[in-house]
Amino acid sequence: MILGLTLPGDRRERDGKDEAAERAGAASKTPTARAAKAGATPAPGSGSPSVSASAPIPAAAPGAAAVKANELGQVPVLMYHRIVEKPDRPLDRSAKELYDELTRLAKEGYCPITAAEFVSGRFNVPAGRHPVVLTFDDGTPDHFALDAQGRPRAGTAVAIIQRVAGENPGFRPVATFYMTRELFGMEDAQAATGLKWLQRHGFDIGNHTMNHPNLSGLSEKEVREEIGEIEDRVVRLTGRHTTTLAYPYGALPEEPAWAKKVDGRYAFQGNFVAGWRPSASPFDEEFDRWEISRIRSEGKIKENDCKKYCSTAWLEHLDKNPHERYTSDGDPNTVTFPKAAEYRLAKEYRGRARTY
Ligand SMILES: [Zn+2]
Repeated sequence: MILGLTLPGDRRERDGKDEAAERAGAASKTPTARAAKAGATPAPGSGSPSVSASAPIPAAAPGAAAVKANELGQVPVLMYHRIVEKPDRPLDRSAKELYDELTRLAKEGYCPITAAEFVSGRFNVPAGRHPVVLTFDDGTPDHFALDAQGRPRAGTAVAIIQRVAGENPGFRPVATFYMTRELFGMEDAQAATGLKWLQRHGFDIGNHTMNHPNLSGLSEKEVREEIGEIEDRVVRLTGRHTTTLAYPYGALPEEPAWAKKVDGRYAFQGNFVAGWRPSASPFDEEFDRWEISRIRSEGKIKENDCKKYCSTAWLEHLDKNPHERYTSDGDPNTVTFPKAAEYRLAKEYRGRARTY
């Protein structure tokens, strides 16, 4: 399957920001710009009935402040494609590279959550640790297979994730797999067993369209069919709907609404692109659930500016700039952050907010 991505330069140009601002991501927006945007909100009384915009935000739990919780910080959503012994196509990663990257995430205090958990705004990450979303596109056989004993086949992405979790207590073995008709190279009966095995073990199945077209060139009917067909198939095999979609090639259709919902067929809670920076927190007013940024998993190679915009570079950046990164307060029901970051809070989460 041919894979193409928007070059980082295109994005920078469109955003019209300088490089430093782009790198700082969500944290780069100035309080003034945000306040101006907030000023455009509807008249009093039209917001949340129970929480006044001016009511003081309660104090954070002492434990949350002690770990410097920042639930308005950025979250890396890593994007993987094929996991092979010898990478020979762009976007391929070797089994060793995946193992090393996951081990690094574990050592740096990251805790995987699924794409569905991320967009729900309720996820359970221990205090002081950082959520990371692991996503695998295209449903190739190297992502998942069951062996004769019914265990993940050695060398597959699922087996590698489980191995790293076994070696690093607290590293949850979960990820999201974006499916096309390839369905890990499985026949229907095998796929039904396999997909249900993944769901039982906390993995998440997402929608990546039936035939992996560039949706930007298709009609409304074609877009809805491409998304609907793979959704029908996943539902037939597992009895469950997907929660999120990853756009093939990161390309949105002419009307983004076509890829959000068809009554009775699909209804997503969030759609992911192939981006060049970590995602904003789902509690940040800048978070756009219909265009969630993912980072390509790659070392600091020259191609596509990976020296700055792929996973190795970003993980280094977040490790050196911990205040930019999402750090959990340990309570999925509260949203804790330093007082100075309050201007970034999306108003619908004000009722769950805590500051220190
Ligand atoms: Zn793809």
